[in-house]
Amino acid sequence: MRINAITNWAYGVTVVLTALSGSAFILSADSATQERRAVEEHLALDALAEELALGAEERSDEARLYVMRGEERHLDAFHGKEGEEHRREAAVKDVRTLGVLPAELAALEEVESDAEALDKIEVAAIEAYRGGDPAKAQQMLFGPEHERFQTALLETVARFRELTGARTGAALDEARSRSDWLGIVAKTLLAVTAALFLGVLYFVLKRRIAMPLTRMTGIVTRLAKQDYAVDVPLDRRRDEIGEMNEAIHIFRTNGLERDRLDAERRLDQNTKDLILQMMHRLQACQTQDELADVVARFAPQIFPNLAGHLYVLNENRTLLTAVGTWLDPHHSAASFPSSACWGLRRGRPHLSNRGHSDIACQHLDESDVAGLCVPLTAQGDTIGLLYLEERSEALPAVETSRLYLELIAENIGLAVANLQLREKLTHLAVRDALTGLFNRRCLDEALNRQARDAASSQLVCLMVDIDHFKRFNDEFGHDAGDVVMQYVAQIMRDAVAEAGSVYRFGGEEFTVLLPGMSEATGFEVAEQLRTRIGTAPLSHRGRILGSVSASIGIATSPSGGPVPTLLTRADAALLNAKAGGRNMTVSASKLILGDVRDMA
Ligand code: GH3
Ligand code: MG
Ligand code: MG
Repeated sequence: MRINAITNWAYGVTVVLTALSGSAFILSADSATQERRAVEEHLALDALAEELALGAEERSDEARLYVMRGEERHLDAFHGKEGEEHRREAAVKDVRTLGVLPAELAALEEVESDAEALDKIEVAAIEAYRGGDPAKAQQMLFGPEHERFQTALLETVARFRELTGARTGAALDEARSRSDWLGIVAKTLLAVTAALFLGVLYFVLKRRIAMPLTRMTGIVTRLAKQDYAVDVPLDRRRDEIGEMNEAIHIFRTNGLERDRLDAERRLDQNTKDLILQMMHRLQACQTQDELADVVARFAPQIFPNLAGHLYVLNENRTLLTAVGTWLDPHHSAASFPSSACWGLRRGRPHLSNRGHSDIACQHLDESDVAGLCVPLTAQGDTIGLLYLEERSEALPAVETSRLYLELIAENIGLAVANLQLREKLTHLAVRDALTGLFNRRCLDEALNRQARDAASSQLVCLMVDIDHFKRFNDEFGHDAGDVVMQYVAQIMRDAVAEAGSVYRFGGEEFTVLLPGMSEATGFEVAEQLRTRIGTAPLSHRGRILGSVSASIGIATSPSGGPVPTLLTRADAALLNAKAGGRNMTVSASKLILGDVRDMA
């Protein structure tokens, strides 16, 4: 109930109780008036009875004194009493009109008749006296008849007084008790009114206002400090406090919602920041391994509930191989044919196993875990796949994060494509197209680096030239010559392996740099090379090309001379080997300095 209604009700009840209390007071006062009237009536009737008795006695006394003494003053007094007698009669008439009881009226009439009888006897006695018969007069006034009437009158007056006394006493008692009862009722009603007023005041102030206000003050203080965890008990009262409580409730709900939105916005901003950071790093990657590492580090930060693989398509576009993995995905194979992925086949993101409403990719196992395959494309070409699976079914993240996942996939695709393009360009820039060996420019750079590096270790340089190469071209055609060139290049690559680098110097001439190697070891490597080149018989398109041999010149630096003269010295040694009959290894350090200068 609203406080307004409570106070209105309390006000109404208080007014009614006050009115009742006032009425009771008025009735009580009325009863007091009746009580007073009863007392007055009692006193009036009592006085009347007294006067009747006394009046009769006084007249009898005056009449007797007159007949006894003969003094006129007693006769005058007797007649004077007559006037009073008339007044009393008038008073008796008034009493009658007051409405006395029949018994009282009968007693009053009896008193009157006795008084009249006495009056008659006394008047007759006075006349007898005046007629000169004092004895008769005295006998009449002191005789038994007069005595009887006088006694009867006094007895009747006494009875009248008794009757009126009883009646007025009862009326007095009734009026008094009614007055008392009404007084008690009035006081009780007044007390109830006061108690009700104070009770309502206490209830309204303490229970309905003070206590809820105190509680709400605490809640509002915490809410003001943005502590939305505070419990706001729902007060369903339909009053101002209830409305205030509801407003606080709405405020808290709004605060919680705002907090949730803020948290979401922060999370979203954090995700965007991480994606941006990842993009910057992706653009700066120089190798595919670096790229895979960047993705594997950032993806779990951006999507903590998604494990995944980064797959790259091989050159033939037939096989996908995982190059990066994060958060331990279990349900997709590490390598699989491109045809096993519906995402790749359709060229768009494909979600497998979510409610089994769509077909699942074949590279996934039989589990129910939702897996999303996002093809990595760049300029219309598919180059790989971003695979993501949910780590917990309770937190379905694949669909909610899909937009960001596609954005990331697009950027990873571009980064992979850029890397692959860069690798191709670098390959083209540093490799020889026919043999796949490093080219001459690469050799120059390597030697320049070596020359700049003062603290560099011993470097062995081999200059290798295929003997009578022109013959292969001439006899078997240029293609056969190319095959011989590739064959020799492959042997050199295998023989040198990690020990150094092999360069195509130009034509059918190759250079091998062997850093950190002694001349003797370099010589051994050269001999191994020469032997391996010369052992395998070559054929091309079914035709035997015959055996190949090579001549090798060795020079070292810094023990044999400075780096800038390394190639010249090795070339001189090579020429020496050619001149010496070919298919042999000659060390520059074995040559006479003059020979070297001539040959250079
Ligand atoms: P020598 O034993 O003195 O080294 O004799 P050679 O025939 O090997 O040397 P020469 O300098 O007379 O001939 C080299 C030939 O190699 C000339 C050139 O046509 C050929 N040649 C150079 N580059 C290529 C190439 O890329 N492919 C093919 N097929 N032939 C090449
Ligand atoms: Mg040659
Ligand atoms: Mg040559």
